[in-house]
Amino acid sequence: MEIKFVKRENLKAKPDEYNLGFGKIFTDYMFMMDYSTEKGWYDARIVPFENLSIHPASTVLHYGSEIFEGLKAYRREDGKVQMFRPMENIRRMNTSAERLCLPEIPEDMAYEALMTFVSTEKDWTPSAPGTSLYLRPFMFGNDETLGVHAVHNATFVIIASPVGSYYKEGINPVRIMIEDEDVRAVRGGTGYAKCGGNYAASNRAGERAAQKGYSQVLWLDGVERKYIEEVGAMNVMFKIAGEVVTPMLSGSILPGITRKSIIELLGREGIKITERLLSIDELEAAMENGTLEEAWGCGTAAVVSPIGELCYKGVKYEVGGGKIGEVTQKLYDTLTGIQWGKVEDTFGWTVEVK
Ligand SMILES: *Cc1c(COP(=O)(O)O)cnc(C)c1O
Repeated sequence: MEIKFVKRENLKAKPDEYNLGFGKIFTDYMFMMDYSTEKGWYDARIVPFENLSIHPASTVLHYGSEIFEGLKAYRREDGKVQMFRPMENIRRMNTSAERLCLPEIPEDMAYEALMTFVSTEKDWTPSAPGTSLYLRPFMFGNDETLGVHAVHNATFVIIASPVGSYYKEGINPVRIMIEDEDVRAVRGGTGYAKCGGNYAASNRAGERAAQKGYSQVLWLDGVERKYIEEVGAMNVMFKIAGEVVTPMLSGSILPGITRKSIIELLGREGIKITERLLSIDELEAAMENGTLEEAWGCGTAAVVSPIGELCYKGVKYEVGGGKIGEVTQKLYDTLTGIQWGKVEDTFGWTVEVK
């Protein structure tokens, strides 16, 4: 694939690595590529980071045809930069594209785009503890008509943002409210796709929970409000009576790469993990009889986020004494160790950026 490079006149000054926040600072360049049904993917380019110019009738602005990915590049102690399972993100993006009737990108083409772009922006990968270069590939339908149909034109972009440590004040367990009104997704809908619309529909419950002092909501299934799905924008896992349980991928749950990695990791450690339906009644019983030992959310941003309190129908339950549990801590240490190159990667999950 030929990737055109448009050089900018002046590079930006690098930010203070101890005050990065999340997704507020962007690097010097972005990757872009366009698609039309006639030409396929064309005009791959790395250009100075700037505002996009799109037609006011562009599909994405009216009908929400948008998908995205999120992954990170990490600075190792030896100065090298590596990514964590990037091919998994590329495959998932194509699954999302199929669901939203957006064009898929051949895996090797998407991989080359990502690698070339990250290589260009490698110097932006911070090295302060817990920091990383967050990568955000995204794609949107870009037809210049108000007609409703599968898209004929699309744009694919990758931007990058140096981000701070998720746990600046140490890992503190969060308070979670179980949402029994709004739902995030339904089977047959777009729950398994990483699309912007899912987030738009989640905001209301998130805001309501925040007003009551909770940091995320725990989603129940969209049909019966009975089975546990996800927590906020993370997958969720529970340790009940010595066994780890996580909701099975039923079609309304996003197949997280952190989730997948934890399943593989626990399998190797000989800790039993089961993917199955988990009802709120079963969880409530486990909270009442004290067999719920640990609970955590998992995703790229936080890696694992321990849950210290769950609130269901106004009743509050403390989890694990409000402290981070043993398995949660071990998973956090191992995964972040592999990602930052401090723990040997025996799975072959990391890829060096040259
Ligand atoms: C991205 C995302 C996750 C986590 O996926 P990772 O690949 O582990 O980052 C979980 N749930 C939702 C809804 C998401 O959008």
